[in-house]
Amino acid sequence: MRPNPRYGLAMIPQPPNPGARFSPVLLLSLLCSAQIALFHKKLDAIEHIRAPRTFANTVLPLEKAVTEFHHRYTPEIQVSVDDCERAANDENAADFANPTLYAALLKVSPPAKPIDATLTNVWLTTMKRSGATLTPQQRRDLLQNKHVLSRIIDIYNAQAVVSMYEHMAHILGYATWADFVLADRVAKNPMRVEKFLQTSIDLFKPAADAQYQQLKDAFAASQGRRKRAMQPQDVAHAEELLAKRNSVDETQVRQWFPAGATHAKIYSLLAGLFGLSIAPNGEGFTVVDSASKRRLGFAPIPIVQDTTLTQAEIVAAFHTSCDSLRTLLAATPYETLNEHVPADFADAPGEMCEGFAWDATALRQIASDNAAGQPIPDDVINKIVASRSLYNTYEMQQRLKDAQAGGALYVYAPLWARVYADDLFTAFSSGNALDPAIGARFRATILAPAGSLDPDTEVQNFLGRPLSPDAFYKEFTP
Ligand SMILES: [Zn+2]
Repeated sequence: MRPNPRYGLAMIPQPPNPGARFSPVLLLSLLCSAQIALFHKKLDAIEHIRAPRTFANTVLPLEKAVTEFHHRYTPEIQVSVDDCERAANDENAADFANPTLYAALLKVSPPAKPIDATLTNVWLTTMKRSGATLTPQQRRDLLQNKHVLSRIIDIYNAQAVVSMYEHMAHILGYATWADFVLADRVAKNPMRVEKFLQTSIDLFKPAADAQYQQLKDAFAASQGRRKRAMQPQDVAHAEELLAKRNSVDETQVRQWFPAGATHAKIYSLLAGLFGLSIAPNGEGFTVVDSASKRRLGFAPIPIVQDTTLTQAEIVAAFHTSCDSLRTLLAATPYETLNEHVPADFADAPGEMCEGFAWDATALRQIASDNAAGQPIPDDVINKIVASRSLYNTYEMQQRLKDAQAGGALYVYAPLWARVYADDLFTAFSSGNALDPAIGARFRATILAPAGSLDPDTEVQNFLGRPLSPDAFYKEFTP
């Protein structure tokens, strides 16, 4: 058993009776094969159209078939058949690399609507990146590699896996796998990513050094007369001491943030900002567009262990709530465009919303009276806001450590998204952070167009100027 990469940690259920000839898993496998065959038939039909190629007879049916294929199961059975998932991936890999289908897409006469032209282009890019323009020999080689990689259960042979990815990159015409992956992201190429990380580390160094000195001082102060120098194993303890001295006392602060009420207030704050209304519904909220009264979907509340929230949990709650709303507020007519957001921009709205967790007005709005019936005092709010730079320093230090240790390609994306997030938040932080006019503009220019526009264009449309990394770099130089 292994985690299913597409559906998180869901495991493959075992048949209740291994000797039985007919198990639920077998039934699902049959259903799965039938769905794959049906999908294949639909694409085949698109391939064999005689009429002149149009958006309506070629791109639209492709979009529909793929969307339906992705929704082929109810959530309950979606997670249950791992073999099916692999077979479906093989089917997708082969179909998206299909040169006849690609040639058909190329022949589509230019659609009248820009959004339809965008969708056509996204499909052309996807198919090209899947190998549709390769020679038959190269394509077989590529698909064989994908097939093997999707079935590798352990990664003990990491070097072999790495060379398979590099080999696929070469087949597709890229120098490295990193070049291939980044070509479809905002970051564009490994050199830009490395330069970005290096600049961040250079700028961060003085702040990190100053913080290390503070840690040493805090540790020394706790040592009384013995004056033992701080050792690596003492750092965690020193961090605790420093946090207690510099930041707010968590146990004191959380009395104004009961979990249930705070989550509800965070959602209603965001709803007010983005022109939505929400109604409690089980473990979350039904989200409705205030203007059109249209139901947009369901936003779950994060699961928390405790009955009150720490500041870190409030930050996380703003982030995940915005992640949920981002999905509901993507408003292009095509699922592919709603979802085709580059991986290094997708988290920018969630990251941006973390900013509200440090805004005095927002904090006052999401706080509740404590058990004694007292509202949160202003000096507690001020202390929370003032503790942000320490929180950021810790967080950034950790992220940069991850980025260096884990290979820049896979870990830079959250940092890159943070650059966008910090710049986007300047629109809110420069005036009244909860101004619904700015929220509406954010929804219209960033969330609604989702993957139908280049992220840099969306940022330009929202801010009225190109992206600037200044707000991000300011975090490193308090
Ligand atoms: Zn997120």
